[in-house]
Amino acid sequence: IRVLGIETSCDETAASVVALDGTSAPEILSNIVLSQIEEHAAFGGVVPEIAARAHVEALDGIIEAALADSGAKLADIDAIAATAGPGLVGGLIVGLMTAKAIAAAAHKPLIAINHLEGHALTARLTDGLDFPYLLLLVSGGHTQIVAVRGVGDYQRWATTIDDALGEAFDKTAKMLGLPYPGGPNVEKAAASGYATRFAFPRPMKGSAQPDFSFSGLKTAVRQAATAIAPLSDQDVADICASFQAAVADALGDRVSRTLTRFRLEFPGKAGPALVVAGGVAANRTIKATLEALCAEAGFAFVAPPLKLCTDNAAMIAWAGIERLRAGIAQENAADFVPRSRWPLDSVSAPMVGSGR
Ligand code: ATP
Ligand code: MG
Ligand code: FE
Repeated sequence: IRVLGIETSCDETAASVVALDGTSAPEILSNIVLSQIEEHAAFGGVVPEIAARAHVEALDGIIEAALADSGAKLADIDAIAATAGPGLVGGLIVGLMTAKAIAAAAHKPLIAINHLEGHALTARLTDGLDFPYLLLLVSGGHTQIVAVRGVGDYQRWATTIDDALGEAFDKTAKMLGLPYPGGPNVEKAAASGYATRFAFPRPMKGSAQPDFSFSGLKTAVRQAATAIAPLSDQDVADICASFQAAVADALGDRVSRTLTRFRLEFPGKAGPALVVAGGVAANRTIKATLEALCAEAGFAFVAPPLKLCTDNAAMIAWAGIERLRAGIAQENAADFVPRSRWPLDSVSAPMVGSGR
């Protein structure tokens, strides 16, 4: 099976061809990602109108490049998979309409993919994981823990009740005058800071409710910064280090709770695993915390290469392959309307044997 994937839900324009032949491991034949970071940097965040226009300008070329890179012609492709939500609706429209046009012109089936399902299934593409496993998705738009039980069978066990974690990094950076995107710059500054200088709160730590919260932490950072302004470079470094320590601690508490729940719900599961996805997974302090937690709890810690952790189209093509292989009846994808909101636990489960 060869599937062309298209991803335009946020600020990356991406296309990829992924192949699965017989029983051999899947192969990413091409994976092109054009980031719009520079277009948005001046505004300190993603501007939807700019994003939609940038997708329009770039997408055709990106798809051509992905096909050329893969060595496959459109005729060799078995299906087109495109992100249909959740995300910024302007970008979703560009990607899904383009996919519909290609599918109609080339007489190929179209598969509408939930972006989060792409993240959820990536570890099967990269590491061949078996169901069930846990996914921790920490990006600019999402912070959730999902029990991945099968293709189309996802249970969200925790989500953020306010800011996403990447958003908290980006807002903290902005407050401290660090450039966008905030995450990598906060991490860089933190390297020369004292993590114990500020005792920031660990939101939700110890709570019986499984969810995340980061807005209180952000407020505490603002208050600390205001109290000692003007900030020296060392002040900024100390705030970043203290913020990162608080985040890692709070995140670790929430994750450890769900590892326990996983053991209870899937007692027979040998070799349980926690998979990370999303840009925040690049953070070394966070990664080290999760790694230690998993080691202690007897879970494998799976961190796919960063290029496949952040937004990309290989994960969308792969989700398409998983759905084709599972025999999902695609509810008439040609009529599918992009959804800015589309919770992962509401995606349709595969109906085995119904063909496509
Ligand atoms: P979506 O939520 O729709 O997947 P996104 O584009 O916001 O979209 P990603 O591209 O996966 O998500 O990740 C970007 C986020 O990751 C940004 O918020 C960025 O600050 C954060 N990030 C990147 N590198 C680091 C890092 N080293 N430490 C902390 N956060 C980071
Ligand atoms: Mg992004
Ligand atoms: Fe994403």
